[in-house]
Amino acid sequence: QPVDRQRPDWLKAPLPTGGTYARLKGLVQELELHTVCQEARCPNVGECWVHGTATIMILGKVCTRACKFCAVSTGNPAGWVDPREPEHVARAVAELGLGYVVLTSVDRDDLPDGGAGQFAAVVRAIKERSPGVRVEALTPDFQGGEEAVRTVLESGLDVFAHNLETVRRLTPRVRDPRAGYDQSLAVLDYAGRYVRGRGLDVLTKSSLMVGLGETDEEIARAMDDLRAAGVSILTIGQYLRPTRHHLPVERYVTPEEFEAYRRMGLEKGFVEVFSGPLVRSSYRAERVFKEAQGG
Ligand code: SF4
Ligand code: SF4
Repeated sequence: QPVDRQRPDWLKAPLPTGGTYARLKGLVQELELHTVCQEARCPNVGECWVHGTATIMILGKVCTRACKFCAVSTGNPAGWVDPREPEHVARAVAELGLGYVVLTSVDRDDLPDGGAGQFAAVVRAIKERSPGVRVEALTPDFQGGEEAVRTVLESGLDVFAHNLETVRRLTPRVRDPRAGYDQSLAVLDYAGRYVRGRGLDVLTKSSLMVGLGETDEEIARAMDDLRAAGVSILTIGQYLRPTRHHLPVERYVTPEEFEAYRRMGLEKGFVEVFSGPLVRSSYRAERVFKEAQGG
């Protein structure tokens, strides 16, 4: 249902059209995959998919947490993991001809490793079948578990992403109580140090939503904190309320303000900042990655 009826024009993306999009949609259905692109009705789906980028959900659709901005359902998957998932995702990626895959999952606090082993298995299966495909893992915080983070980092992935989501002051109001601003920073910091220590070719990335009541100073401080944690890629996008039961939108950030955030981020030393009303953490992730690599 339309919740925020007075959405400004810059939030209206054109509906995807064309043969490539239709072909991809058919394949996803056939292979029984879950993509965030479709489940979240992401407005960028036309653009991302024709560029060979998609965000695939692994480890099921039921989350053990309940963030106040997120429409995913909450429950207890009681340790359920599909052992065929790595192979299925790898097959799908190959058949879809994707060039860049973002893997993400709900929080699986019910699993001893938080799902890190399954992330790693899926990355390996993709790389085995399609060595040229770039893989980004957008992970939960694993409750700060360093072993889980290492498991994902050693899988052969290209980008390790974990979202800070919002500024420090709003974190308790916006995210599940088990998530924490400092915990998320610690995960990113640990990942960055591990990657550098081991000489791995992995970039770290994070994302912020705006429009939840944060100030520009608070955004600047969150950027400083992410830089201090060694994060090199940042995406910033407008928070949109999924249903009436979720947090209201406090403001619609204008395209000019998003551009100012982008410049601020670059000044603070991020290698790449994608900032715009419809930017999502996985928005055109292949382009963000290429630009961060300097080409
Ligand atoms: Fe949604 Fe992630 Fe929060 Fe779960 S942990 S409710 S999937 S944002
Ligand atoms: Fe999918 Fe992310 Fe692109 Fe949206 S922004 S279409 S979720 S890859």
